[in-house]
Order: sequence, then structure tokens, then C-alpha cells
Amino acid sequence: KGAKTGRQVESYQTQAFTLARERFAMETALRRAIDDRQLRLAFQPICDLATGAIVSFEALARWRDPQGVEHQPSDFIPVAEESGLIVPLGRWAMDEAARTLRWWDEECGGNCGMRVAVNLSAIQLQRDDITPVVEAALIRHALSGDRFVLELTESAIVTDPDRIAGIMHGLKALGTTLAMDDFGTGYSNLAYLQKLPIDILKIDRSFVSGMLADRDKIAIVRAVLSLAQALGMRTTAEGVESNELAQTLAALGCTFGQGYLYARPLEASDALRMIVAARTA
Ligand code: C2E
Ligand code: CA
Ligand code: CA
Ligand code: CA
Repeated sequence: KGAKTGRQVESYQTQAFTLARERFAMETALRRAIDDRQLRLAFQPICDLATGAIVSFEALARWRDPQGVEHQPSDFIPVAEESGLIVPLGRWAMDEAARTLRWWDEECGGNCGMRVAVNLSAIQLQRDDITPVVEAALIRHALSGDRFVLELTESAIVTDPDRIAGIMHGLKALGTTLAMDDFGTGYSNLAYLQKLPIDILKIDRSFVSGMLADRDKIAIVRAVLSLAQALGMRTTAEGVESNELAQTLAALGCTFGQGYLYARPLEASDALRMIVAARTA
């Protein structure tokens, strides 16, 4: 292939410039969104695969801008991570999750019996002092640490394993449950699994959805399940979209399931309705 024509170079530059400008515009808008409380949390149930009972809800960030546009986390979380805005966003999410759980408890006349899972970004763990942030939310909303699951990704561990190990032990000391999110999509060295205080492996949706028709996917899911069992960890399958999938995963020994079969991420008030309905059933 020969040298690029002048026109091609120009169009690449224009594209790169447009992308950079869009990123910057989103960063500016997101900064304002955090300050102006345009963010909210949606809550998706996680169920015991054997009984179907709801055991927890994962808190997922949602952003509707003043123009009414609903932005996807897959668009704005990466921007938040690159810009460092994930630090204030993550602090807000932790506090908001605790505030909501406290509200559910009060509506249930004590303890609603649910845990809430909060996502902690690798960047947040690098740049923020996360243990005091979690502890402050617990104190502020008068909740014990055992009401929370903290979801970490493999990328958090790659960057600085020793420091992350210290942080994870600190979070465990608060009573929280630790889950490894999107397991199988990141770091491939498994040595860390036995060294770190991980309670739950979350099997990424990319392996779960479609596994009934794909021998390779089902082989990976089986392998992750037996690895987790050997290490004494529980497992959550993401992307459980059908009854057949839930039954197969339960038969394979997977502990929990999350996905559209049970519910999509819900507004906090709808999640509360689900909790109350389950309690009175
Ligand atoms: P994740 O942690 O893997 O969260 C699960 C995602 O899968 C959610 O997407 C959820 O809506 C979606 N999902 C759940 N069940 C199903 C299903 O059965 N089928 C399909 N197709 N999708 C399903 P969502 O809410 O768009 O979030 C995307 C990602 O953004 C999350 O992936 C997480 O990595 C990140 N994220 C969201 N909120 C936060 C947050 O507060 N902090 C951080 N650090 N990351 C967040
Ligand atoms: Ca997650
Ligand atoms: Ca996940
Ligand atoms: Ca995932």
C-alpha cells in the first residue's frame, strides 16, 4: 500500500478531532450531572438459582440529561474512568446505594433482608481511599457492612496486586462480601484467586448467554463453576434470560443468577415493591 493521500490524512484527523471533542463534551456534561444530581441508581435483582428467591440487588448508575437523553453506562462510565470523574461518581453511588437500602429497611419495618451490590471501578480503587468511603456510607445510613456486596474487576488486581489485597482485606474487615465481576474477561493469571479474599465469582454474560447452544461456552462455564467450588467461592451467572438457562445453571451448581428472566434493572421504588411482594408471598 502506498502513502496515504492528503484527503485520507485530513479525514482521520477530522475524525480524531470529532471524537476528542465529543469526549470532552460528555466529560463536561457528566461533571455537571454529578453536581446537579442528574444521576440515579437502578436496581437489578440477583436470585438464588435453586429457589428463585431474591437475595440482593445490583446498583447500576443511570444518567438522564436535562434534554431527556438517557445515556448508557457503557458510554459514560469509560469517560468517567478516563477523566477521574469515577471518583466522585463512585462515592455518590456508594452513598446512594446505602441511602436506598436504608429506605427499603424502613419501609419493611426493620431489615428488608436484602443485600445491595455496588460496582467499584479499578480507577476508583487506584485513585480514591475506598475503605473510608464505604465506611462513611455505612455510618451515615446506620447499616452494617454485611448488607453490601462490593463488585471488583480483574483489572483492579492487575495494576497493583499487593495494594489491592490490602484494600480488599480492609473492606472484608467492614463485613462486606466481595465479588469478582465479569470473571473470565480480564486478567488470565489465576494465581490471585487463592490469595485474595473473594467470596463470589460473577461469570460474565458473554459466556452465559447462548451457552445452551454452544459447547465451548458451556465448557467454560463448567470450568469456572468447578474452580469456584474448589476454592470455596459462590458463583453468580450474569445474563440469565430464560428459565431453561436458569435450570441448567442450577443443575451445574451455580449459586445465583441475574438477568432479564428475573427482572431488568428497576427504579428503587419498583425494587421495593418486588421486595415487599416477595415478603408477603
Ligand atoms: P456490569 O457490572 O456487568 O452490570 C451488568 C450489566 O448487564 C448491566 O448493564 C445490566 O443492565 C446488564 N444486564 C443484566 N441482565 C442482563 C440480561 O439478562 N441480558 C442483557 N443483555 N444484559 C443484562 P448496564 O446497567 O448498562 O451497565 C453496564 C456496565 O456499566 C456495568 O456492567 C458496569 O461495568 C458499569 N457500571 C454501571 N453502573 C456503575 C457504577 O455505579 N460504577 C461503576 N464503576 N460501574 C458501573
Ligand atoms: Ca457489576
Ligand atoms: Ca458484571
Ligand atoms: Ca458483565
